[in-house]
Amino acid sequence: MSHVPINLYTPKNPYYDMPDASPGINPPAIYVNSLGRFYTDRYNWNSVGGFSAGSFGARSLILLHELAHIVSPPGFIGSDADTPGASEKNTQMVIDHCLHAILEVIDARKQ
Ligand SMILES: [Zn+2]
Repeated sequence: MSHVPINLYTPKNPYYDMPDASPGINPPAIYVNSLGRFYTDRYNWNSVGGFSAGSFGARSLILLHELAHIVSPPGFIGSDADTPGASEKNTQMVIDHCLHAILEVIDARKQ
């Protein structure tokens, strides 16, 4: 993660189901939508894997999802933007593998 630049962008025409973030593959980068659920529930009020928009958990899932696009672990769907349900399936895979670690960090931050 420390080798992947994280860039912010603001869409000109925001809409409900816009991406919260997108991967850049060559060179590797993560593009975070400043109007997406990384920061706000203004356009999309659904949780991110059970975490509220803008929370540490939502931000962790969004960044780990995009990082997975860059490192391509087995079973992760490379191009999930245009296939219904594919992005959610990928996020579930991130949850299955990373939720425990995310919750540990959240817990440690409370102390
Ligand atoms: Zn994706």
